[in-house]
Amino acid sequence: EKASERESMYLVSEFAQKNFQNNLKTTEPGKAIGGTYFKERGFTRETIDKFKLGYSLDEWDAFTKEALGKGYQLEFLEKTGLTIIKKKEGTTEKRMFDRFKGRVMFPIHSMSGRVLGFGGRILTNDKKAAKYLNSPESDIYHKSKVLYGIYHAKQAIAKQDNCYLVEGYTDVIQFHQSGIENVVASSGTALTSEQIRLINRLTKNITVLFDGDAAGLRASLRGIDLILEQGMNVKVCTFPEGQDPDSFARAHTDSELKEFLDQNATDFIRFKASLLVKDAKNDPIKKADTIREIVNSIYKIPDRIQREVYVQECSRIMDISEDVLYNTLAQLGNKEV
Ligand code: ATP
Ligand code: MN
Ligand code: MN
Ligand code: MN
Repeated sequence: EKASERESMYLVSEFAQKNFQNNLKTTEPGKAIGGTYFKERGFTRETIDKFKLGYSLDEWDAFTKEALGKGYQLEFLEKTGLTIIKKKEGTTEKRMFDRFKGRVMFPIHSMSGRVLGFGGRILTNDKKAAKYLNSPESDIYHKSKVLYGIYHAKQAIAKQDNCYLVEGYTDVIQFHQSGIENVVASSGTALTSEQIRLINRLTKNITVLFDGDAAGLRASLRGIDLILEQGMNVKVCTFPEGQDPDSFARAHTDSELKEFLDQNATDFIRFKASLLVKDAKNDPIKKADTIREIVNSIYKIPDRIQREVYVQECSRIMDISEDVLYNTLAQLGNKEV
């Protein structure tokens, strides 16, 4: 029955996607509020259709009622997280709420194009409310195994033999609009090995694009070791302070964006080594930490010759002898160096 339950969850998710899309296109609040929001972000009608963007009405249970009226069962509305059921305080009475009330909707598709869940964005920049609300983990939506945009990117990833990895939904969408289709987003969660495997089946080359907000850059670099572990080639690129791939793409022409990416994408180990040198400056204790840090990354690379090349390069960049790097590498394990 698990399979048929999952099928019911897929069906209600597809209904929700169509309902949100229909709200955006045909209802007054959808057109006025959702439509205006997307327009202001520079999304064209073609883009909105391509990604099946939508709008969830700003009413407590309009969507849930509509779905129930169409014969979808409350059980699956709850299991997909589209409906939240709450007990009325002090009673046994239950009330239903639409999870995504009053948000613009980004459906999340599987590799084969099925709707697994949603990201919903508030329309204001109210710092108190969560900017994005996502569907909960469920039997059809395993967050650690999903990359936003993979369905729309898979052909281009294979063809370009490279995949851009960005942080957010709008980065993916704006890149498509700028003519770059080999792009997926981790959508705010820490990158997982399963997500990387999805890309690995299509290309061995990843370029990770970081928002220019510094926060989290150093922490995120750790996650990149997971990409090295799978024997993939990794480049990274940071955006100017205060900008992300979406805002940068909007502010530049398609060819300026391409040129920026080509010129700023840096080999990951090289990037990390340079960053570590800056961090450590002339502090000897910090320098020892940075050696361990870079060697940790090099250790993850399965190919021995590549490891050697990086030892040589990091020795030069960080002004550390190759011997010290090799010895530190040897301490990590008995991988032959
Ligand atoms: P926007 O341009 O719409 O303001 P963004 O995509 O640039 O949003 P970031 O703050 O850079 O947003 O976050 C990157 C991604 O992290 C988002 O696209 C979203 O998937 C996720 N995210 C951000 N804020 C939240 C939140 N409050 N709850 C859950 N996920 C979030
Ligand atoms: Mn960010
Ligand atoms: Mn961002
Ligand atoms: Mn943004």
